[in-house]
Amino acid sequence: MDSKVYDFLIIGAGSAGCASAYFLQKSGKSVAIVDREAIAGGASGAAGAFLSPLPGKKNSYNSFVNEALNFSIDFYEKLSPDSINKKGVLRVPYDNFSKEKLENNDIEYEYFDYNKLKDISKNFKEIDGYFYKNAAVIEPLSICNKMVHGCDFYKKNVDKLVFNDGIYFVEDIRAKNIILAQGVSKSLVKHPYMEISPIFGLRVDVKTTTEVPFNIHKSISISTNKHDDTVAIGATHERHDSSQLECTTTCDKCIFYVDHEKEQVNLLLDKAKELIDLENLEVLKTYKGARATIKSYFPVIGKIVDYESSLKKHPSIKNGTKISQEMLEYYPNMYTINALGSRGFVFGPYLAKILSQNILYGSVIPKDISTQKLFFKAARKDKSQL
Ligand SMILES: Cc1cc2nc3c(=O)[nH]c(=O)nc-3n(C[C@H](O)[C@H](O)[C@H](O)COP(=O)(O)OP(=O)(O)OC[C@H]3O[C@@H](n4cnc5c(N)ncnc54)[C@H](O)[C@@H]3O)c2cc1C
Repeated sequence: MDSKVYDFLIIGAGSAGCASAYFLQKSGKSVAIVDREAIAGGASGAAGAFLSPLPGKKNSYNSFVNEALNFSIDFYEKLSPDSINKKGVLRVPYDNFSKEKLENNDIEYEYFDYNKLKDISKNFKEIDGYFYKNAAVIEPLSICNKMVHGCDFYKKNVDKLVFNDGIYFVEDIRAKNIILAQGVSKSLVKHPYMEISPIFGLRVDVKTTTEVPFNIHKSISISTNKHDDTVAIGATHERHDSSQLECTTTCDKCIFYVDHEKEQVNLLLDKAKELIDLENLEVLKTYKGARATIKSYFPVIGKIVDYESSLKKHPSIKNGTKISQEMLEYYPNMYTINALGSRGFVFGPYLAKILSQNILYGSVIPKDISTQKLFFKAARKDKSQL
């Protein structure tokens, strides 16, 4: 048997797991990454993957998104300039995102009226919108592969973690620390305070002879022409009931998946047609996946709190007694990075950097994205007797 003990074993090779692998490896740690499908075989392979600012009156959520965006665009440009097209995004107002929201913010923008857009491309329909420079589209597969370059990858379905004498065992792989980056899949340990709901989505890649000058976003997004000459159009949003079943990585393997791919593709193409005329359009490939979300929309990172043991040790937490984070019970040497929602590639590198610095140097994780915030919230609502 191989005697190697990795510093870190990451379960899940999506945007979250691959970005975590990148930062830990860069800090000199030995890292293995496992996925039951492939690198970017889950939601990450299905993503558009658009990187756009979130305009609107400043609040804690959009400030967080926009900070992550700046970090991540810069990160991808350095990591793999061939996998990113940064040409900005035109945001077209609609019911869910009004002109006021698009105008009322700190982010730099330019208003493009119909005439200006027609000067840029005769293919634009009768639309107007707000142009934000700091937006891009990336190639998710090549980005994820680049991030794990140098790590050992194992294709394996992990069904349990064994912890013995300070070492985790996943069959013959051994590691000192575990990072769960499982997306919508059932977690390998219990954390009832972090309820993940899947939001299914579909995107298409098309070929067209039309030059799309920048990304365009209304209720769906159309990308500029990517380096491989395709244009991405995405994505649909459909909340699936996770109480029915365990959400699987690939929707095609899900027994509850109702195949209405054709209608969904047509819906995307119809919405795209309202924005720009894509000439000689040919659908090349469709991609499906499920985004992992929690109620607050913030992602979650950090040490995994053991809910039952923490409440057993400090039952008065349920009545609102304040207990410091350090006094909670945690699964040993185990961390999570999850609930990246619809912005997995905006958040991935930014979160992974914060998480790796927390693990390696003890730097503080902002409260809004911490496991402890969710733990305390759920515990204070919990009226059961332990
Ligand atoms: C259609 C669609 C469009 C999207 N568009 C965008 C976009 O434009 N921009 C953007 O930023 N984000 C977008 N997203 C969201 C983004 O894709 C996700 O937020 C991101 O991919 C989540 O990454 P993840 O690593 O958390 O999850 P995933 O990519 O799902 O990775 C989790 C991995 O863990 C593996 N796994 C889980 N459990 C186990 C186990 N027990 N054993 C082995 N392997 C396991 C799974 O196989 C999976 O590969 C989109 C998502 C979808 C579905």
